[in-house]
Amino acid sequence: METYDALVIGSGHNGLAAAALLGDAGLRVAVLERSDRIGGATVSERDRWPGYTISAASYVCSLLDPWLIERLDLRSHGYDAYRKDPASFTPLLDGRSLLLGADERANAEEIARFDPDDVSGFADFEREASALGSALFDSFSEMEPHFERFAPNVRTALEGSAAALVERHLRTPVLQATLATDGLIGTYRGPFDAGTGYVLAHHYAGRAFGVQGAWGFVRGGMGAISQALLSAAQARGVRAYTDAAVARLLLEGERVVGAVTADGREFRARAVLSNAHPVTTYRDLLGEAHLDDSTKRALAQWESIGPALKLNLALGELPNFTARPGTARQPHHRATIHVAPDLGFLQRAHDDARRGGESEEPMLECFMQSPTDPTLAPPGKHILSIFAQYFPYDRPGGWNAERRDAAAEKIIARLARYAPNIPNAIEARQLMVAPDLEERFGLIGGHIFHGELLPGQIFERRFDVRSAVNGLYLCGSGTHPGGCVSGFPGRRAAQAVLADRVPA
Ligand SMILES: Cc1cc2nc3c(=O)[nH]c(=O)nc-3n(C[C@H](O)[C@H](O)[C@H](O)COP(=O)(O)OP(=O)(O)OC[C@H]3O[C@@H](n4cnc5c(N)ncnc54)[C@H](O)[C@@H]3O)c2cc1C
Repeated sequence: METYDALVIGSGHNGLAAAALLGDAGLRVAVLERSDRIGGATVSERDRWPGYTISAASYVCSLLDPWLIERLDLRSHGYDAYRKDPASFTPLLDGRSLLLGADERANAEEIARFDPDDVSGFADFEREASALGSALFDSFSEMEPHFERFAPNVRTALEGSAAALVERHLRTPVLQATLATDGLIGTYRGPFDAGTGYVLAHHYAGRAFGVQGAWGFVRGGMGAISQALLSAAQARGVRAYTDAAVARLLLEGERVVGAVTADGREFRARAVLSNAHPVTTYRDLLGEAHLDDSTKRALAQWESIGPALKLNLALGELPNFTARPGTARQPHHRATIHVAPDLGFLQRAHDDARRGGESEEPMLECFMQSPTDPTLAPPGKHILSIFAQYFPYDRPGGWNAERRDAAAEKIIARLARYAPNIPNAIEARQLMVAPDLEERFGLIGGHIFHGELLPGQIFERRFDVRSAVNGLYLCGSGTHPGGCVSGFPGRRAAQAVLADRVPA
């Protein structure tokens, strides 16, 4: 048996952030991770294909808490990010395309080619989305978040649809669809569905590089964030164990006093923080018998059916887009590449899945970091990381090998319509559908955010940091402010433990 002041179950970036902050406050802390590597969904894989580093799950960063970066001095532990610019590239089948980035004049030229009136509309949209994102960000570290604190017009925008937000300012279909995609990431809803306005604003909440809503790449891949957090935690005396799946929590009376691993190791602590999905924490580790009625109700209603699929491709050359030809490195290769020509396309992609199990023509969001960070692939080679929807966890008939292959082929064929050289450039591929995300990362229902980030599951309606059982805290994305690589859930949980004066 080992005894600590605090025990953290799970080494996702939030678990590591909580552990490092508690270590910083002088507590003796251990982290127990079920898998053989740390980081959860914030991970870089180096052992899959020789010479490649893959951000296997999350791939871009915006929301990482600047306070956390400073407080733990993450840069001195290897964290380094750079802005993704251009930000987005959306090719069309008629040979046109839309490229947007940090340069306002270049954006205006791009947009004016479609509709000159949308130049000012785009500025208006950016202003509104940034204001919403900024309001959210200011609430992310609050210990008692309340959605009702927002002004009525802000609440209306967040409770509405992503389509309403973009249509209010813009008319160009491809511009509407490119911007609305942020409201759909990870979310089993279409752009016209209520609440996707919140998801869009959540993706504008980050302040990376001091710019509201800017996204960036992390040097060395997303795992560099977890590694920096681990290193910062270890520098503060935290011990981290991999291959240490917690099987159950230890209780004394009605107080959680530790955890037991699947191989029988016992760890005791005054505070136990769970970074695992709330369903795992409550149903599997604590057990139904110890749940109060309100937690039981919350679990029964919790929406955590993920619609996302991740396909990582090793490419022998860069995609050659018909709309911007060439396999030599060009600005659009650095951007998020969208397959999303209009809002109707996105809604159909969603509706198909509700009706028949998956999108006939899926929404694709693709990234290539290798053009800006050549250390991630062998010379001349690249990684194309594809995030696709909608391929839901609960598709009728389940996910067998044949369906997995068919989904990958469908996505590749779709991309090939815009960049015909892709199929022949593929040298290896890694596919993860929602059940794979569940198995590998413990994401219940394969939901990338530990549950939908929609009104009804945000702010005070997300799970509480303090559980209903003494001694047990939640420190993962199931708590406010939810998913994305931010560190806020970990920070809030550490603050709760310290406020409750769990003694060192
Ligand atoms: C495919 C994909 C793409 C994404 N893309 C982005 C992106 O580009 N940008 C972005 O900001 N966000 C993205 N996200 C979301 C983001 O990665 C997550 O919201 C975030 O990483 C969750 O962090 P976490 O620390 O809360 O939990 P997790 O990373 O889920 O970590 C939880 C940890 O708990 C461990 N665990 C579970 N049960 C046990 C147990 N019984 N015992 C011990 N350990 C246990 C798990 O193994 C895991 O390591 C993406 C997610 C996925 C899956």
